[in-house]
Amino acid sequence: MAQTPNIQYEMPKAYEPGKVEQKWYQFWLEKGYFKPKIDPEKKPFVIIMPPPNVTGELHIGHALTATLEDILTRWHRMKGEPALWLPGVDHAGIAAQVVVEQLLEEEGLTRHQLGREKFIERMWQWANRCRQTIAGQHQRLGASCDWSRECFTLDEGPSRAVRTAFVRLYEKRLIYRGERIINWCPRCATALSDLEVDHKEITGHLYYVRYPLAEGNQFITVATTRPETILGDTAVAVNPNDERFKAKIGKKAILPAVNRVIPIVTDEAVDPGFGTGAVKITPAHDPVDFEVAQRQGLLLVNILNPDATMNENAGPYVGLDRFACRKAILADLEKDGLLVKVEPYSHSVGHCQRCQTTIEPIASKQWFITMPPLAKPAIDAVLDGRITIIPGRFTKVYLNWMENIRDWCISRQLWWGHRIPVWYCQECGELTVAVKDAKACSHCGSAKIEQDPDVLDTWFSSALWTHSTLGWPDDTEDLHYFYPTAVMETGYDILFFWVARMIMMGLEDTSAVPFHTVYLHGLVRDEKGEKMSKIKGNVLNPIDTLEKYGTDALRLALSMGTSPGNDIKLTTSRLEAGRNFANKLWNATRFIIRSLPPQEEFVSAWAAYKVSLDKLPVEDRWILSRLNRTISSVTSLMEDFQFGEAQRQIHDFLWGEFCDWYIELAKIRLRSTGEVLSPIPVLVYVLETSLRLLHPYMPFVTEELWQHLKQRLPSEWPATESIMVAAYPEAEDKVVDLQAERVIESVIEIIRSIRNARAQYQVESRRWVEAQIYSSQLSSAIIPYSQTIQTLARARPVTFPSSREEAPPQENTLVLVLKESEVIIPMESMVDLEAERKRLQEEIEQIQAEVARLETMLRDRAFLTKAPAVVVDRERDKLAIRKDKLGRLKQQLIRFQA
Ligand SMILES: [Zn+2]
Ligand SMILES: [Zn+2]
Repeated sequence: MAQTPNIQYEMPKAYEPGKVEQKWYQFWLEKGYFKPKIDPEKKPFVIIMPPPNVTGELHIGHALTATLEDILTRWHRMKGEPALWLPGVDHAGIAAQVVVEQLLEEEGLTRHQLGREKFIERMWQWANRCRQTIAGQHQRLGASCDWSRECFTLDEGPSRAVRTAFVRLYEKRLIYRGERIINWCPRCATALSDLEVDHKEITGHLYYVRYPLAEGNQFITVATTRPETILGDTAVAVNPNDERFKAKIGKKAILPAVNRVIPIVTDEAVDPGFGTGAVKITPAHDPVDFEVAQRQGLLLVNILNPDATMNENAGPYVGLDRFACRKAILADLEKDGLLVKVEPYSHSVGHCQRCQTTIEPIASKQWFITMPPLAKPAIDAVLDGRITIIPGRFTKVYLNWMENIRDWCISRQLWWGHRIPVWYCQECGELTVAVKDAKACSHCGSAKIEQDPDVLDTWFSSALWTHSTLGWPDDTEDLHYFYPTAVMETGYDILFFWVARMIMMGLEDTSAVPFHTVYLHGLVRDEKGEKMSKIKGNVLNPIDTLEKYGTDALRLALSMGTSPGNDIKLTTSRLEAGRNFANKLWNATRFIIRSLPPQEEFVSAWAAYKVSLDKLPVEDRWILSRLNRTISSVTSLMEDFQFGEAQRQIHDFLWGEFCDWYIELAKIRLRSTGEVLSPIPVLVYVLETSLRLLHPYMPFVTEELWQHLKQRLPSEWPATESIMVAAYPEAEDKVVDLQAERVIESVIEIIRSIRNARAQYQVESRRWVEAQIYSSQLSSAIIPYSQTIQTLARARPVTFPSSREEAPPQENTLVLVLKESEVIIPMESMVDLEAERKRLQEEIEQIQAEVARLETMLRDRAFLTKAPAVVVDRERDKLAIRKDKLGRLKQQLIRFQA
């Protein structure tokens, strides 16, 4: 068993995250804290981590995911729930294959040269390396996930889940193979789903082309953005109500370049407002035309090879690249007088999400899932509240997409991924669809069968992730206990890709929702609010960042200001704020530990403190009350997933109230020689509790400080072995003392206002100022703090006249009106009035002289005509600035003469 790392008696002067982080992570790991105990009496808290792709290292978006999920997991674990955060990685089909193909390219190789088997081997080497890197980086981020359950989408279990789900859907006739228009990436040489295509607005051209009619010497003119597709036209269509084409309907046209005769048909789908009103129909290369062709019984002519060169159907252009073909055909049309005109035209063009190559819509035989029957229960689950989406505004987005869902093309012409579990029989032509590798045709028994060469869309396995990681399709203890999971925390950008599909497949496979809450976080942007990208060069690498500022600082910066669904800005100042906060806590703890009395004294002080709450000094009751109200507010914010605000409240309490005020007040008591109750128990109690409150956000520094503190506590102080398995603080209502808060807040306000006045009048730091404090309601409560006010505001004497009459009205006073009191400071106590008056008068005279000089100059015609306009303007600006300053100086002088 692991030993608690050695803690020195005296804390080092400064916090060095690098020295601390690894030590504690290792300790937690060895203690097995990340692995939940299955306890049927308790409801577990479960998050399945969105698996990062094996495409390289973690980026800052992953660091945000890890931070938020770790906050949730640590919090629930401290609440005593068996907390499972299950980590994993995704084989990332096309994305990973593209990366390795690029590496091969550097060696002058293609995947085809290598062959399927060798290529897959290379993929595995790459994936295993990434898997290790990713796990190591998560550990550095402090992720408290259960590494014993770590999963990879291509592992045996998830792979069996993929095949089982496929076979079941196939048997329910929800998976089918058919010819449809799909998005084809010529570079990746694969089909893509609609979601994997990025649409970009492109300024291109609209070409008007004349097709001669078969009889007579008339023409029909069509407009197109892709003239090379003319070669694949199988009709011209017009709207049946378009009077302009009445005479041409039913006639035949001759396709330029290839001289194919095609019919002129009518179809309701034709928009008479586009181009000439007559449109070319290219069913094999346009989804709308494909549907027209289905309705009209038109031919499909595919003109492209998989690499987007022209195939044998392209006549004279065979073998040309699609864009070269475009040029060639335009030149030929022009030569034949068939190109009527060319207009600039901006339209949306699909690009491959992975390689940015222009997509070609191509009619192709692929595997699809029929989505509407799967969407229906997934819509119901959100409508009836079994699943809540946070923030709520995404519910509408989800429902809208699901209600208009289209069939999902799941086959990919790639090598890296789950091979489609379908075998084609060469004897009888039937399909064998099976979970286990088929050896013979299930229809005729022939051994002459061949597996479909394609793999499944990587999102198919992702869609099963919540249950495949817990053992499905087997009926495992994990599946029983941890499924449905609690929260799916991920970026809003993959709501459709992933979240929606998990809901559909979870319900389909298990009849239960995969999670109860979907929490969508935003994107991480740079200081200017721009998306981070390698091209812009504004990418922050999470590991470099945590090495520079410390992991806790990075985590704090990432959760700072975060709220559901909103993007966050990661700025240097936030990272610095995170580091400064860790240092502030370090110094505060170091001070408290250095102030601890010997054990026996501490035990008796602790005993005295425990006697009765209302015997404690007001400031003790104040800080305890504030602590408890912070705990209850933080708890309800965390229940609402408002981590940014929860974190801010813990930070503000610790820094703005505990460190800045309570510790300062306590120092006065510690220095006092009189009979005062020691503040030590309260200092320790508040610090220890606050560290636990903060732990989910800053796990490393809180553990280090807590261990230092724990070591010096009396043995009866309840403590666990590590802060991460200590209880999360719970608010105690009886400790809330609003009157104490009112009093101390007034005292703080008084001190602060005097300090501000001193700063405003630039009072020398050694000088004492006088202060009279009026407070009709709180005087008697504040009077005991006069010594405190003296010390902390450097004010002497501090008096509390019971009414204005008691103190004679004074001239030359500064009156500070506060929430529940008024502070009056005689000006004389802040500044030497005579000297100040003299100084002001001298400054006024000097500025008056300058004003006079400038005014004379600006009245001088010769100057005004000769000098360049910029110079005149500059002098005018100078005059305005001087006049303004003069006014303010005069006002100040009046204040001193009243
Ligand atoms: Zn591509
Ligand atoms: Zn057969």
